[in-house]
Amino acid sequence: MPKSTIPIGIDLGTTFSVVAYLDSTGRPCTITNAEGDLITPSVVLLDGASSVVGKEAVKAAGMEPEKIADFAKRDMGSMFYSKKVGGEQLPPEVIQSLILEKLRKDAELKLGPIDRAVVTVPAFFNEPRRKATQDAAQLAGLQILDIINEPTAAAIAFGYQVGFLDEKGQARQKETILVYDLGGGTFDVTVMVIDGTDFTALATGGDVFLGGVDWDRRLAEHIGNKFRDKHHGFDPRQDASGNQRLLKEAEDTKRALSAREQVTVSFEHVGQGIRLPITRVEFEEMTADLLERTRFTIKSVLKEAKLQWTDITRLLLVGGSSRMPMVQRMLEEESGLKVDRSLSPDEAVAHGAALYAGLLIAREEVQPDDAPAKKPAMTVKNVSSHDLGVLSKDPATGRSMNSIIIPRNTVLPVTKGKRFRTAKQGQKTVVINVIEGGDSAGRNSTPIGRCTIHGLPPDLAPGMIVEVFFTYSENGRLKVEGRLPELKRKAMLSIERASGMNDDKLNEWGEKLKASRQ
Ligand code: ADP
Ligand code: MG
Repeated sequence: MPKSTIPIGIDLGTTFSVVAYLDSTGRPCTITNAEGDLITPSVVLLDGASSVVGKEAVKAAGMEPEKIADFAKRDMGSMFYSKKVGGEQLPPEVIQSLILEKLRKDAELKLGPIDRAVVTVPAFFNEPRRKATQDAAQLAGLQILDIINEPTAAAIAFGYQVGFLDEKGQARQKETILVYDLGGGTFDVTVMVIDGTDFTALATGGDVFLGGVDWDRRLAEHIGNKFRDKHHGFDPRQDASGNQRLLKEAEDTKRALSAREQVTVSFEHVGQGIRLPITRVEFEEMTADLLERTRFTIKSVLKEAKLQWTDITRLLLVGGSSRMPMVQRMLEEESGLKVDRSLSPDEAVAHGAALYAGLLIAREEVQPDDAPAKKPAMTVKNVSSHDLGVLSKDPATGRSMNSIIIPRNTVLPVTKGKRFRTAKQGQKTVVINVIEGGDSAGRNSTPIGRCTIHGLPPDLAPGMIVEVFFTYSENGRLKVEGRLPELKRKAMLSIERASGMNDDKLNEWGEKLKASRQ
């Protein structure tokens, strides 16, 4: 048997990624990358067949913005990355796989060959985005032990660190935790109960389009306007490189304002310059509505969990943007709790992923004979983050309707079904259109894919019962089954995906990336 390799936990972030492993004492440690940093920018520079990932790519971004792919995580689940890079349209999975490959290779410098990993995803990532994440890992030569939700990972890490979990991963007392994760490009809030060894998410919500970068943009807008006013309409934002550098300046300023009350920005563009003092108060005023959006999301998540602030025992802050003093202040005011800052908000998610990876491996290695002694240390129950249903036609009115099979915030894993009827005389196939979210008519829903039951007997009378079962696994992946009970027919259906990569595409890219590695 080959010697088993050390599994790693990967926080594949929108803006920064982090890798951790468990040392020989079982303690999670962040692995520094080849540049010597704990966190790696999730940025790729594509130059023909070669690519550069991380800090070096960021440095080049100001000079060659057209070769840069960043924020690809936002596009996971779509067919293509939002812009052409080096003149080419790429699937977001490919960009993410290049990041994952860099993370794997850097970790290998420390740990030797690595092939297994737990990768984290935002709790509200929908099914296609989860699949795309798994595909990206596969392209990067990693076997995914599991994907786990970022807030769950953070709660596990805090649990160990703060000691509300004992060595066996058991909570000393029941905890009801709110995880507030404000990263670079996404916001995520989850309420979770930890009771003994059970981690159960009660409700989750978030915003894929809200993160630190929105704070950067506000500040960049402010600096850009002042620059333009000073230089009679000459605007650095008019060219891509000026814009990139302005955003970088804004980000640096924002970070500095987390530590200081006032910062003086100095920005130059094509021989013109500006020096501009900005106070933390000003910055907080120009971004107050963004913070307000997170407050609003928290309230609705608490409501969905049927809880009040007084029920919450711990408040965990995750994500680099939670370092902004305005975030902590708002949360403490709102909740009456003290924020737990005992763990670095950048590393908590990766540490939790490493702990979870260790747990999965330990579970795998449990021999049947000693199973009772080595009871799995922890169980993680997630909730579904979106309604999942079937788009069908109302037989009476002929209008589209959304038959929700698994409602949002259902505890996973779950199997649920609904009955439908065939519509036409002699119908040969039954097509099941799987959708996520949307209103009662299916408007604004995300098509997940289509399943087809083929080969129905000829001259089938209309009104035959078709049962559709959805099985949603713990990690948020979906299986669909269709049954025609009157015909005793059963079909496990593969989903013909509405987005992302099918198996052929995945293989094709797998070969292509392998070739470019040689
Ligand atoms: P993600 O998980 O989305 O990749 P991270 O959790 O790594 O993101 O957070 C990255 C974001 O945190 C960036 O927008 C960065 O500017 C911001 N950030 C990091 N440190 C600070 C700080 N000290 N003050 C304010 N924002 C910060
Ligand atoms: Mg993150």
